Amino acid sequence: MNKERKLIIAGNWKMNKTVAESLDLVRGLKIDLANVKEVDIVVCPPFTALGEVSKAILDSNIRLGAQNMSEHNVGAFTGEIASVMLKEFSVRYVILGHSERRQYQKETDALISKKAQAVHGASLKPIVCVGETLAEREAGQTEKVLQAQVQGSLANLTKEQMVETIIAYEPVWAIGTGKTATSAQAQEAHAFIRGLLVKMFDPTVARKVRIQYGGSVKSSNARELMSLPDVDGALVGGASLESRSFADIIKNSI
Ligand code: PEP
Repeated sequence: MNKERKLIIAGNWKMNKTVAESLDLVRGLKIDLANVKEVDIVVCPPFTALGEVSKAILDSNIRLGAQNMSEHNVGAFTGEIASVMLKEFSVRYVILGHSERRQYQKETDALISKKAQAVHGASLKPIVCVGETLAEREAGQTEKVLQAQVQGSLANLTKEQMVETIIAYEPVWAIGTGKTATSAQAQEAHAFIRGLLVKMFDPTVARKVRIQYGGSVKSSNARELMSLPDVDGALVGGASLESRSFADIIKNSI
């Protein structure tokens, strides 16, 4: 597939997988994906498995991501994880503002913006998630919601930082539901987000930023979604928990 930007496909394992299960999964991926050069491949295990997975993928084309990070560098923040702790395991990417954290941990755009600054401050790359709920889409609010989230979560980034930021457009109604956005819906939202980046930064920055689609991506719909002009990869939940299904998504996207 001929793409303007290199595809980046990340698996978000969420609160799944013990260390042993994580190693099983990543060993399978290493074998299945050994020859893939066309796609940046990222896995985001739970914190407890980062150390072992990091060792297992040392000599591979798979990169490591974390599912969250504190906006603080060190100190009395019980239960939080700092950038320096992630860097010990050679983590490269950090998912921020996933809709589940927005919903259950009440994360706001202002907090996500602080976290994005901290991620860049540590020379890591944030994957910043945005997306509307079904009620917001049905009320015709999709663009308004995306605009607030993109402008709020990416506030104060420099152009250089923005180019190293990945955005994941994840319509909340498509996450874990088996419902996928149609090609037209996905392309329309991605193009809208890229248009916002033109206004917030400039056309050159907007052209370079990779925007992933997330929401029930599977091997059967990956190719069509990845072929859309403004879709530059995928953030995959359920289908990343099994090596064959995640590997097939990546192979079908090439
Ligand atoms: C996600 O949670 O980021 C996600 C896209 O999940 P799923 O692929 O299961 O819809």
